[in-house]
Order: sequence, then C-alpha cells, then structure tokens
Amino acid sequence: MKKPALHWQIFIGLCLGLVLGVLSRMFGFEDMVTGPLAVIGTVFLRALKMIIVPLIIASIVSSVAGIGSGSRFGKLGFKTIVYYISTSLLAILTGLMLVNLIKPGSGADLGLQQEAVNLPVDIDKIGDVLISIIPTNPIASMAQGDVLSVIFFSLLFGFFITRTSDGCRSRMTQLFQDFFDVMMRITRFIILFAPLGICSLIADVTAESGLSVFLPLGRYMLTVVLGLGFHAVVTLPLLLMVIGRVRPTALVRAVSGALMTAFSTASSAATLPLTMESVRKNAGVSKEVSGFVLPLGATVNMDGTALYECVAAMFIAQAYGIELSFFQQFIVVLTALLASIGAAAIPMAGMVMIAIILKAVGLPLEGLGLILAVDRVLDMMRTSINVWSDSCGSVIIARSEGEKIF
Ligand code: ASP
Repeated sequence: MKKPALHWQIFIGLCLGLVLGVLSRMFGFEDMVTGPLAVIGTVFLRALKMIIVPLIIASIVSSVAGIGSGSRFGKLGFKTIVYYISTSLLAILTGLMLVNLIKPGSGADLGLQQEAVNLPVDIDKIGDVLISIIPTNPIASMAQGDVLSVIFFSLLFGFFITRTSDGCRSRMTQLFQDFFDVMMRITRFIILFAPLGICSLIADVTAESGLSVFLPLGRYMLTVVLGLGFHAVVTLPLLLMVIGRVRPTALVRAVSGALMTAFSTASSAATLPLTMESVRKNAGVSKEVSGFVLPLGATVNMDGTALYECVAAMFIAQAYGIELSFFQQFIVVLTALLASIGAAAIPMAGMVMIAIILKAVGLPLEGLGLILAVDRVLDMMRTSINVWSDSCGSVIIARSEGEKIF
C-alpha cells in the first residue's frame, strides 16, 4: 500500500493527538499523555530547534550571495519589507474593526482582581532591543539563538561575499550552497518524524487544558478567530491572486504540512525548516527568494500576532471599562505592529509583547492575567497565520521577480 503524503500523515497525527488528549481527560490518564508520551513531542521540537540557527545562516548567506548584484538585493529587500509591513497593518486593521464591532470586553465578568503576570521583558527598553539587533559578538548570538542578530550578520556576510574577487566569491558561494544542501537534508530527515511529534504535542496540550477555561472568554476568542480567519481566507488570498496571480488553494495544499506544524508547535521558528522545504519543493519558489524571504519573515512578519496584539489590548481596555480615543487606538495599531516585529518566533512571545501596547496607552498590565488562560490555543492559530503570510509573501515576491510558480 502506498504511504499517504506527508501532509496527510501530519493531519492524521494531529487528529489522533486531539482524540488521545480528549480521551485521556475523560478516562483520567492525563499524566500518561503529559508525561512519558509528551517526550516524543519534546524530542521532535528539540530537533527542529537544533537546526534553526545553522539553517538561517546557510539559507540567508547562500541566497544573498546567490542574488549577486547589490541593486537586485536592494529591490528584493524593499519588496519584502513592504509586503511584511502592509500585510501586518491589514491584519491589525481587521482586528481593530472586529473588536470595535463585537466589543468582546464590554460587560465581561472576568474577576479583574487577577494577579499581574510576571513579565519577562523590560518594556522600557524597546530601543535597546532594536539596537541589540547588531551583535557585538556574532558567535555568541548564534550560541544564544538571537535570531535577529544572526539574520543581521548573515545578511551582511552574504552581501559582502558578492563584493569580493571572482575566485573568492565563487568559492564562498559554493561553500554556503553546499552547507545549505546539507542543512536541507537534515531538515528532510527530521520532518519525517513530524506526524509522530505533532500527535504527541497536540495530545499534550489537549490533555493539559480542558474546555472549561474557554467559556468566559468565548467572545474574545471568537473575535480573534474571526479576524485571523478573515485575514487568512480573504485578505492574503486576494493579494495572492491579484498580485501573485497564483491560486490560493494550490498554495494551501503545498504548505499544508507547514501550517499544521505551526499550529502544533506554536513556533514560526521551529516551523521554518518545513516552510522552506514546502515552498521550494511543492510551490517551486527559487532558493534565492525563499532563502531570503522566509527566515526574515519567520522572525519579523507576524500578521497573526499583530492582529492578536491589537484585539487583546482593546479587549483589556473594554474589560476595564476604559474608552480609548481615536489617537490612542492609532497608538495601539502602531505599537501592535512594532510588537509583532519584535516578538520572537516562539510560543507565547506575542502574549508577552502586549505589555508594550498596554504601557503605551496607559492600560493596566494586570489585564494580561485575563487572557493568559486561553493564550495557548490562540497562539497555535496565530502562528499558523504567521506562517501562511510568510508563504504567501515568498510566492508573491518570487512572482514579482518573474519566477514561474507551480
Ligand atoms: N508563537 C508565535 C510565532 O512563533 C509568536 C506569538 O507568540 O505570537 O509565530
């Protein structure tokens, strides 16, 4: 019998995980699922994380060196940034509109005395965060997994390869191409275990959080889900069709494995290896474009996170009965954009960054306590949208460079 395609295997893994999680809660064997069985998911996640830094270096350096001319690099960079910022803004505006229409926080009885969350970021230091993109020691950044700093250094390194003498340029480009090939082979090997890993991750989350936590926050979740759905099904496909002239359904099929992995891991960074493989192999985007657009996108282009930040901040304002002026809402939009760019591509990063918005418009930080309970499931959804937007971006940009897709 023929083995089903990988995305089907992943889908089956996801469903089995869900069933296992629900059954474990019904029959009281959660400890088994969140204990010994969860190890499989942890091993899979660790393997994915293991390849993030070398994969980013190999793909960015080889792609930027392969792009060749400085002007082509500049044009590609410009298009990429314009795509990232405009789609994130569209996502935020969708969220803002919905949260003003549905008003999920008005009259919500959420027990506002909940405890403040311990915030791991020092929100007064956002300027320092931006400066720290320039690493003082690139090797230390690689060791610590400071992805933005690694990207910055890799971009420079790749660019200056193109400025060296012919011999050096071709040797270095070849070296990094080969390095990239090896990394992609490791990636493909790890991906083979995705169905199992995802089954375990989903079973773990389901066994840990029952459905009861969702009830008081139903309208808030609905607002986020509607916004994410609209962005994923209307806004991005429209851009794909109008600018990219590509059928959205074909791309969904091509990257479905990556989308499900994003959903299960809640990490764009951990999903990056799969996104790169799917966009290149199934959609036919060139190595140069995917190698440049995707690692950058996984780190800074987070449409789902941007939308979520805006809805969550507005929800907290409504729950406290605080009316935000037009200007304050404008600040929410702007800071949501910055927060989504600054958020790390790991689980819960977006949740922590909401503190920046709350601080900017003077809302109580304790408000974060309100939405913590349902963050995980929303994180899974927004991460899928983040990855979907990156995939659409790579295709749109590849098409604008005259590439043939599919
Ligand atoms: N988990 C998201 C991601 O990796 C970031 C977030 O928390 O919003 O894309």
